[in-house]
Amino acid sequence: MKRRKPALILDHDKLRYNMRSVIGWCGAAGIDVAGVIKITGGMASVARDYAECGAYMIASSRLEQLARAKNAGVDIPMLMIRVPMISELEELVEICEYSLQSEYATLKALDEAAVRAGKVHNVILMADLGDLREGFFELEELVDVAKYVEDVLSGLHLAGIGTNLGCYGSVMPTEDKMDQLVSYAEAVEEAIGRPLEIVSGGATSSLIPVFDKYMPSKVNLLRIGALSFTGPLEDLRTSYGRKEADALHDDVFTLEAEVIEVRTKPTHPIGKLGVDATGRKRTYVDRGMRKRALLAIGRADYGELDDIIPQLEGAEVIGASGDHTILDIEDCKEPVRVGDVIRFKLKYTAILRLTSSENVTTYEI
Ligand SMILES: *Cc1c(COP(=O)(O)O)cnc(C)c1O
Repeated sequence: MKRRKPALILDHDKLRYNMRSVIGWCGAAGIDVAGVIKITGGMASVARDYAECGAYMIASSRLEQLARAKNAGVDIPMLMIRVPMISELEELVEICEYSLQSEYATLKALDEAAVRAGKVHNVILMADLGDLREGFFELEELVDVAKYVEDVLSGLHLAGIGTNLGCYGSVMPTEDKMDQLVSYAEAVEEAIGRPLEIVSGGATSSLIPVFDKYMPSKVNLLRIGALSFTGPLEDLRTSYGRKEADALHDDVFTLEAEVIEVRTKPTHPIGKLGVDATGRKRTYVDRGMRKRALLAIGRADYGELDDIIPQLEGAEVIGASGDHTILDIEDCKEPVRVGDVIRFKLKYTAILRLTSSENVTTYEI
C-alpha cells in the first residue's frame, strides 16, 4: 500500500499486546484499569482495543473524545479525568457514568444537572497528596464534601476517592503516598458509614508500586494511558526502568516522513546571526561539512526534536522549523536519497500532537 506522507502508523496488535500486559499486571494485584485515550486525541478504535483487552472503563480529559467512543459502540463506563468545567456538566451527565471532582460548587451544579437529566452520576473525589494540580488539599475538607455528596446530593453517587501524582509536582508514588491515600479512603468510609467502591491510585507512574509489590490492597483502580502507547521508550516518564515494561512494544505508533533534499552543507550558519524560526537565539557547533537530509515534517506536527527518534542507524535530528526537519546523515551506512522514507519512534507528546495534526495521515494496521 502506498501511504500519503507524512504518515502516522498505528499497529493495533502491538497496542493490544501492551494493553493486555498492563491490564494483566494490574488484575493480578486486584486493580482495575481505566484505559486513558487522550494521547491519541480520543481515537474510537483505541477505546475499542482497551475495552476488548479488559479495561474496566474508558477515560479521557475531553468529553468529545468520550462521546466519540460511546457513539462508536464502546459500552463500558466512561470516566472524565479532567475535573469538569461548570459549563459542560449537562454534557458530562449525558456522556459519562463517572468523573473526577475537586470543587464543592461544581458538585452542587453537577447534582442539579444529574437530577434534571433523571440520572445518578458517579463521582470520584480527588485528594491532592502533594503533586499540587487538582484535588482537595486538606483531609477535613475532603471528608466534609464526601459526607455532603453522600447525604445531600441525590443526583450523585460517591463512588470513591482518587489521587494524581507525577503531573505538575513530579511527585513519585512512594509507599507513604499510597498509604496516605488509603488512610484518606478509610477516613471517608468512617464518615459515611460504608465502604467506597473505588480507590484510584494514579496514572501510569503508579504502576511502580504494582511492579515493586507495595501497592496497598485497598487501591483498586489505576488510570493508564502512557505506558500502553510508548512502552519502555520513555523510561523516566513511564516505567522507571522496571523490567516488566521492557517487554512491551515501543513502536505502537510510528511516523514516516519523506526526504525532500539531500546535501552536504556546513554545520555552522553563515552570516550575522539573529534568531531562529521560533524567535530564540541559538548557538551552533561547527563540525565542518556534513551530509544532511531535509524532511517534509516539522515542529508544527510533532512538537519537540527529542520526541521523535529516527530508526535509521547513524542518523540524528539536528534541527527543525515548523514544517521542516533536518537530519544529520553523515554517519549513516545506508545511502539516503530524495524520496526515501525515514521512520521514527515517538514519545508521548509527539503522539499527542501527531494524532491531531491535519498535515499527517493516520493509518491503522
Ligand atoms: C492523563 C491522566 C492520566 C493518565 O496518565 P498516563 O501517564 O498517560 O497514564 C490519569 N489520570 C489523570 C487525572 C490524567 O490527567
